[in-house]
Amino acid sequence: MISFIYNIYNTDNIEVLLMKFDIAIVGAGVLGSFAALEALEAGKKVLLIEAGQTARGATVRNFGQLVASGMALGKWRDLGIRSLAIYKKLQPLVEGAIWQQGSTYIASTAEEATLLEEMYLINRAQGYPSKLLTPAQCQERFPGLRADYCHGGLYYPEEMSAESGQLMPRLWSLLSANPSLTLKNVTLVREIKETAGGTEIITSGNEKYLADRVLICCGHQLSQLYPQVTQTPDMKLCKLQMLRTEPYPGTRLPGNLLTGLTIRRYEAFQSCPSFQNLPQSTVDPRCAQLGIHMLFRQSEDGSIIVGDSHEYFDSRDVHSIDYEVREDINQLMLDEAKNIFALPHWRISRSWNGYYSQDMSANKVLLRSISDNIHLATGIGGKGMTTGPALMRDAVQQILRGGALEGLEALHAHSVT
Ligand SMILES: Cc1cc2nc3c(=O)[nH]c(=O)nc-3n(C[C@H](O)[C@H](O)[C@H](O)COP(=O)(O)OP(=O)(O)OC[C@H]3O[C@@H](n4cnc5c(N)ncnc54)[C@H](O)[C@@H]3O)c2cc1C
Repeated sequence: MISFIYNIYNTDNIEVLLMKFDIAIVGAGVLGSFAALEALEAGKKVLLIEAGQTARGATVRNFGQLVASGMALGKWRDLGIRSLAIYKKLQPLVEGAIWQQGSTYIASTAEEATLLEEMYLINRAQGYPSKLLTPAQCQERFPGLRADYCHGGLYYPEEMSAESGQLMPRLWSLLSANPSLTLKNVTLVREIKETAGGTEIITSGNEKYLADRVLICCGHQLSQLYPQVTQTPDMKLCKLQMLRTEPYPGTRLPGNLLTGLTIRRYEAFQSCPSFQNLPQSTVDPRCAQLGIHMLFRQSEDGSIIVGDSHEYFDSRDVHSIDYEVREDINQLMLDEAKNIFALPHWRISRSWNGYYSQDMSANKVLLRSISDNIHLATGIGGKGMTTGPALMRDAVQQILRGGALEGLEALHAHSVT
């Protein structure tokens, strides 16, 4: 395709930037950025438009745990495993922002340990590497892990972690180094129109861009573009609270650490024969109510991210979502963390909220083609870092061959390993 660029002003005083892109991607979180990467790899001319100066959404507020092991077996675990392969290829290009030290689940009861044993057998049958750990092996791997908490572990050596706040700028630099990418940050898209020749993308600064097709990856910002499509009864907004400790110079916590409450929460374990037999009486009802499950990940400076909680809001009422950090939730998470680890101190240096949109329907993500050339992907919930790269690979390939995103469901049904 021949690209050409010149600026004109039309009668509405909209500045038209007549460079025709093969694809425009709105939103440069993990979904939008990996969609851009895929489109570039397909040799396309790509416009990536992001409202923020840097990525500021869920993508940089998360744990960065790339845990295919926790995803529902079938399509979602498959996407997680394929995403790990994409991250591994990217790893040398993003200087230390992604690394492989595995994931370890620690059982806090004998019943949870049974689930880990059952999951190990499932993994073995499916060819996904994992290794059962005795309580002593867990404590050797994680000094400070309390003996009365640990009833055994399951280790996934292939899994990776990301320092998302470092990954995103490095990924943007990598993308921008490709002359086929135009990155427009600090640019809010306010309207998209289907035209005879493709699409028009209009920004809040009254600039108009032209592209053959658009993919919207707007995260939890559902009220700006196509709210009638995104703000459905199935779509929830979720608020999560996170803590970061001060650094522990002498303590090493390798890889992703996931605990008993996570074994109860992550969908993979629902495939274990004994899942239904888990006694609920051992769970603090306040944790159950606030969706608290305990995860840990250490950063290079020695500090540890501790979290998280899940409060759900109706996506049709964006004003209902609150922005406050609830101290009672932070305290509850810290109390739980202290039951799991004996660390030299529990001084918290930072706490923050993250938000994501989560499609609660059976699809577990909203993939929608609004018209022939306008497509939308959001509502991936807590699985975006783990599964987003492969999901976006499939989504971009689907729309580049002229298919509707709804058709991906059928494709995934056939690809499940
Ligand atoms: C606290 C927390 C912990 C998590 N931990 C993990 C984890 O360990 N592992 C895991 O797999 N997942 C995790 N997740 C989930 C994961 O972070 C999300 O699924 C993922 O980041 C969603 O990516 P996204 O690109 O859809 O959204 P976002 O990251 O929110 O990106 C959307 C972007 O679109 C931009 N945008 C929106 N509207 C417009 C517009 N009109 N014009 C221009 N730009 C626009 C926004 O500015 C934003 O940058 C966690 C999430 C949170 C909040």
